[in-house]
This record gives sequence, structure tokens and C-alpha cells, in this order.
Amino acid sequence: MISHFHGDHIHGLRNKAGDFVFPKARVLVPAPEYAFWMDDGKARAATDECSKGLFANARRVFGGMPEAMLQRFEPGTELLPGLRSVPAYGHTPGHTPGQTPGHTLFEAGRGPQSFLYLADLTNVPELFARNPDWAVSFDMDAAAARRVRREVFAKLVASRAVAGGFHFPFPAFGRIEAAGNGYAFKPLA
Ligand SMILES: [Zn+2]
Repeated sequence: MISHFHGDHIHGLRNKAGDFVFPKARVLVPAPEYAFWMDDGKARAATDECSKGLFANARRVFGGMPEAMLQRFEPGTELLPGLRSVPAYGHTPGHTPGQTPGHTLFEAGRGPQSFLYLADLTNVPELFARNPDWAVSFDMDAAAARRVRREVFAKLVASRAVAGGFHFPFPAFGRIEAAGNGYAFKPLA
């Protein structure tokens, strides 16, 4: 399950030679994320080197991926029994479904026993959970990222669900608590 198409989240699908690392895997991707990055018009319109690199890399990884391997899903749908996708646009934005990318979280279970994978909703929690209005340059729509960050953290405080993010330092699993003008990440271990 892929949260979004930034390189550090998709590079592992292929090895250096370009072969699929797990050729029998099914790769689940947010449909709006795929539609945006694989749109040739949008790729040609990219002007800065960073965006050009991101478009090229998405093609390197997903170009030629067999249809049987690739499964597109709409963020917000259940992917497997008890496993749901949660739209959290902003880090990669998703204002127009099907046209703009859609950073997506994954949730297993319900209530305090559930786990929410935060992907890149926030990077280093000591900085960006503590200061949810700070945005890193990788937040493509910073205003949406800030709003969604606060919405998701507020829900986590209420639900007491366990959370963890892609870039969180070890131990990467814990609960989110309200602290000051933001939130604190309390590791479980
Ligand atoms: Zn990212």
C-alpha cells in the first residue's frame, strides 16, 4: 500500500536494475495520486528540477507495471476487511479527485486498539507535531497540509489510537497528546 509517490516511498518497489523487488505483489496506490504523477501533460508542464525529478521517478517505478500488479483505489475506501484508506491531502494535494495527487493514510481496527499509519502527515514529530502549522518544503500544498495535520491529530487525541509515521525515529509507534499550541508524540516503548 503506497501513501504517495514521493521517491522515498516508492523507490523500494524496484531494484537498481529496474526489476520489481516483489514481482508477485499487488501494489495498491491512491487513484488520484497515480493520475496526477502519470499525467504526461502535467509532467511536461513541470519547470523546476525537483518536480521534474518526481515525475520522472514515478514513471521509472510505475511505468510498465503490469495491470495485474497495480491496483488503484479511491482514498476513503476499505481495502481489506478492517483496513481502511484515509485521505489526508496537502503533503501531496488532492483538491480535484482524479486530477491532483492524494496523500493517503491507512487505518487498521477501530478506537484505542486501532493503528493509524500517518505516512508523511508529519515528518519528525518533535518538530512538526509540536508545531503543526510548520510546513516542510515537501508539503506541496502547505495550507491544506497544515489544516489536515491538525484535523488528524485532533482525532487521534480523541480516539487514543496508536499512530506511527514513515519518518518517525525509533520507537515509531505511540499516541498523540495535546500539548501547547500543538501536539506531543508519546512513544509506546
Ligand atoms: Zn513525502
